[in-house]
Amino acid sequence: CGIVGVLGNHEAAPLLVEALKRLEYRGYDSAGIATVNAGKLDRRRAVGKLVNLSDLLVHNPLAGKSGIGHTRWATHGAATVTNAHPHKAGPVAVVHNGIIENFRDLRADLAASGYAQESQTDTETIALLAQRFIDSGMTPIEAARATLHRLHGAFALCFLFDGYDDLMIAARKGSPLAIGHGAGEMFVGSDAIALAPMTDRITYLEEGDWAVITRKGAEIFDQADRPAPRPETRIQIAA
Ligand code: GLU
Repeated sequence: CGIVGVLGNHEAAPLLVEALKRLEYRGYDSAGIATVNAGKLDRRRAVGKLVNLSDLLVHNPLAGKSGIGHTRWATHGAATVTNAHPHKAGPVAVVHNGIIENFRDLRADLAASGYAQESQTDTETIALLAQRFIDSGMTPIEAARATLHRLHGAFALCFLFDGYDDLMIAARKGSPLAIGHGAGEMFVGSDAIALAPMTDRITYLEEGDWAVITRKGAEIFDQADRPAPRPETRIQIAA
């Protein structure tokens, strides 16, 4: 299972699929990507090998220079297209590795206020929570921060938002996550190997960190939401 994210200067879909290929060694049962194109958030998902996603993209391309991608190793809900990531709720898309332990309570609470899930996953709960916060008047950054404070469990996450083609929010708790720095481009990956074709300049999020990422760079916060600059390192991996 793996996560990738791109705020780039080129079409994101091929970069996302390429990065997901480099995460194949972790195993997965389905895959998907979402992009923001001309402000609009859209996604493609497929069960099985990455080639199924690539084939789908040939017939149903996904344009846009900002995007997130995922290979799923199902923990909650079967390996179906509906359960594949990215999950989307209103203006929010999210990819997630790990398990949200309190998702049943959160899901029941969301359903009671009219935010019903269509998948069986613990991940869609995250997207719906963020959507509800945005509907209540929060900005995407505020909504992501508020959402993160409600989640128990182990996760690596990356959010993308409708109407925002220069914003990703990444978070890690119990699952590693790396941020890659390009020239006017920024990347997110489960590991530096995934990002090697795009950059060798990597910042690793530390336990509990979350990051607001734009093409200008990443602003990192610790789990108490205090600014937490983390070092940038140069890695050596064959691209
Ligand atoms: N728990 C999530 C799901 O079942 C994420 C699984 C993963 O780490 O790929 O969809």
